[in-house]
Amino acid sequence: MTDLTKNAEPEAPVEFMVRAENVHKSFGRTEVLKGIDLQVRPGEVMCVVGPSGSGKSTFLRCVNHLEKINGGRLWVNGRLMGYREKNGRLYELRDREVAEQRRDIGMVFQRFNLFPHMTALENVMEAPLRVKKRPKAEVRARAEELLERVGLADRKGNYPSQLSGGQQQRVAIARALAMDPALMLFDEPTSALDPELVGEVLSVMQQLAADGMTMMVVTHEMGFAREVGDSLVFMDDGVIVEQGDPRDVLANPSHPRTREFFSKVL
Ligand code: ADP
Ligand code: MG
Repeated sequence: MTDLTKNAEPEAPVEFMVRAENVHKSFGRTEVLKGIDLQVRPGEVMCVVGPSGSGKSTFLRCVNHLEKINGGRLWVNGRLMGYREKNGRLYELRDREVAEQRRDIGMVFQRFNLFPHMTALENVMEAPLRVKKRPKAEVRARAEELLERVGLADRKGNYPSQLSGGQQQRVAIARALAMDPALMLFDEPTSALDPELVGEVLSVMQQLAADGMTMMVVTHEMGFAREVGDSLVFMDDGVIVEQGDPRDVLANPSHPRTREFFSKVL
């Protein structure tokens, strides 16, 4: 496989691709994120781990502005998500402006979420055609190239129901890449897969990381975190309990809750 990111448009360099400052999120009276602070540098692969219900998905959804935060600030690619700052005050952006910001971010979910009535190729072409309004021939060429890079050139005419879970997830990755994101978010991308299909998805993600993509990956695959991750964040009950180099954290978890969690998943 070759460089998956080479067609990404050049961006002004930022120090942090993601910066979260004291991010709070509640649903009703339930506080799910209780002050999250983190930074992800361009090209970094951050793995986010932690028990079910700790707020991992909610945090990724906040980064992608699928959820509005109740406190703190979140920047992606140098832009304050959802708001404009003027004279020290924050003003909410319009839906159209939020949609524009979200185009920098690709997301891959546990369930593949492909359009069932479209072929693999049509799934990958859909967003650039509809959102970017690029010429169809150009979009098709790029989609074919992306499918080839995730190892599915021979499957472009297949519908999702004709593909394995691992193949569908690779189409989902190609589809996210078709928008040339600066940041890719993965929320347990292999958790719904049969064990024998996990490896093919992880290897596409590993290639993407090697090509320099900035990634946040919620995963229980500790081998991936150790081999591919540049940083690891352990979350529990809406806070970051511990973070650092994955090899250090995995070998020497300093917090009892981290130790207990690793003893169950490793
Ligand atoms: P994780 O991904 O770490 O398993 P989640 O972010 O999915 O955790 O969930 C964290 C907590 O937030 C859970 O208690 C969950 O029930 C709650 N939660 C998540 N989304 C919603 C929602 N839309 N409405 C109400 N509660 C939610
Ligand atoms: Mg989750």
